[in-house]
Amino acid sequence: MVQDRESLEFDIVFIGAGPANLASAIHLQRLLKRHNSLSANKIDPAIAVIDKGRYAGAHLLSGALIDPRALDEFFPDYRERGCPVEATVSNEHLWYLTAKRKFPFLFCPEPFSNKGNIVVSLSRLGSWMAEEAEKEGIQFFFNTAAAQPYVEKGRVAGILTDDKGIDRNGQKKPNFEAGLLLKTKVAVIGEGSDGSFHRKVCEHFPTALETAPQRYETGVKESWRIPPGRVIAGEVHQMFGYPLPTETYGGGWLYAFSPTLLSLGFVTSLEPDSPVCDPHRNLQRFKEHPLLAKILEGGSMIESGARTITSGGADAMPALYGSGFLVTGESAGLVNMQRHKGIHLSMKSGILAAETLFESLLHDDFSSDRLKSYSDMFKESWAYDELHAARNYRKAFDGGLYSGLLQTGLQLKFPGLSIAEGLGKQLKKKTVATSKKPAIESFTPDGRLTFSKTESLYRSGTMHEENQPCHLFIKPEDIEEICLTKCALEFANPCRHFCPAQVYEIIDYPRPELKLNPSNCLHCKTCETVDPYGIITWIPPEGGGGPGYKLS
Ligand code: SF4
Repeated sequence: MVQDRESLEFDIVFIGAGPANLASAIHLQRLLKRHNSLSANKIDPAIAVIDKGRYAGAHLLSGALIDPRALDEFFPDYRERGCPVEATVSNEHLWYLTAKRKFPFLFCPEPFSNKGNIVVSLSRLGSWMAEEAEKEGIQFFFNTAAAQPYVEKGRVAGILTDDKGIDRNGQKKPNFEAGLLLKTKVAVIGEGSDGSFHRKVCEHFPTALETAPQRYETGVKESWRIPPGRVIAGEVHQMFGYPLPTETYGGGWLYAFSPTLLSLGFVTSLEPDSPVCDPHRNLQRFKEHPLLAKILEGGSMIESGARTITSGGADAMPALYGSGFLVTGESAGLVNMQRHKGIHLSMKSGILAAETLFESLLHDDFSSDRLKSYSDMFKESWAYDELHAARNYRKAFDGGLYSGLLQTGLQLKFPGLSIAEGLGKQLKKKTVATSKKPAIESFTPDGRLTFSKTESLYRSGTMHEENQPCHLFIKPEDIEEICLTKCALEFANPCRHFCPAQVYEIIDYPRPELKLNPSNCLHCKTCETVDPYGIITWIPPEGGGGPGYKLS
């Protein structure tokens, strides 16, 4: 109940401490400081950032090979101030892989090139940016999930945070603490891919979602320590082909932070009409390729994790503003799949959101008309131009790898071109009709190069309070009528495969039963985004639960 909650008042609350919102908070605070140093009309708003992770960067996971363009704009002295740049790209390779061989591309087309880009750990970068934001005077609430929007007089007027201390049956435990009501003039939603708060806001304001449906891929990532002498700092390999069939979109990467520390991972496309893939398995198979296996031999995997990536591009961008809220970063789907990048676009959205918020504070005007300027500025920015030019890249691969490569070649010459969307859809339909049930062959990890989901989970730092309500909600009647009957027949329960943390299990004896292991959850959101019947709802567990990334 709202009235039972302690209420705190803010001017601006950022939901999610990712690169978009941290860039926004830092930039806003600097604009305010500059204004206050020059003007007698001082503005001193209360600004907070809330995040469901237990510390800054705990839930941040990415490649991450960053185009520093936005970082240069709002933080030109980031290197001098100690930003954790692991390396600058020193050499890059683009490969097509078969099971045993590798074929280099003779040149790296410009959109795929990483010349001048920087290799970072997004988790470390987020942690550093949060420290910088704190130094600027921003207040942080970690361990705090945004459970529900508080809507008053037709606008988002606050955030209801999660209750703590509820047991698995919904009863209050002795340590019960009611969530807070954080009242705010503007809520800035930057939760990353498939944000649960954004979904709830869109239930109140359905027009915020009047776009093409969002699409998602799942990235599974590992960090490795390896013996020296195999790679150099800043070495970048991007690969496609093995182990995916040509009809499935995806690919892998290996980036060297240093001669002995690597980031590697694999992205797999999963869609509700063909959810029959195992992204964790694909990463393990990818590492068995001789190119990777040779580099990794004798090394040790030190961290693992997974996250969905939005891939709908410009066509699937939701409204960037609404009554009392702005949407930033990957919550707005700001990923350029052609470049395999989005952090620079996220940061740019944060910068522009900060400029709008500054004007709102200056004029004490938080109306939708004022907030709209964020959306207008974004659509006139280099970030939108980049996103728009790449809008048909991902769609081109709906017809499979060869159709995708052909169209990508043409798109490089004629940005935005789409010549075979219809062909792609036809091929996709045929593929789905013949491959509903997963043909996932058995695989035995060796525990040195390849790992089971349980071993990978152990290295993700994931933990949850065990005695709390299950945060994966499926109606009991849907479990009976869909999971154990329709889905079992049509897709053979693909949740058992696509979840990288083995949260979903089907027990056959003494009677079929769906068993959930929610405390394993990596918060990757694959299940909610690819469930073919749309019956899984992911709600935030008690704040502080989830992965504990440090290097991802
Ligand atoms: Fe990801 Fe958790 Fe869903 Fe598994 S249950 S797919 S880890 S969000």
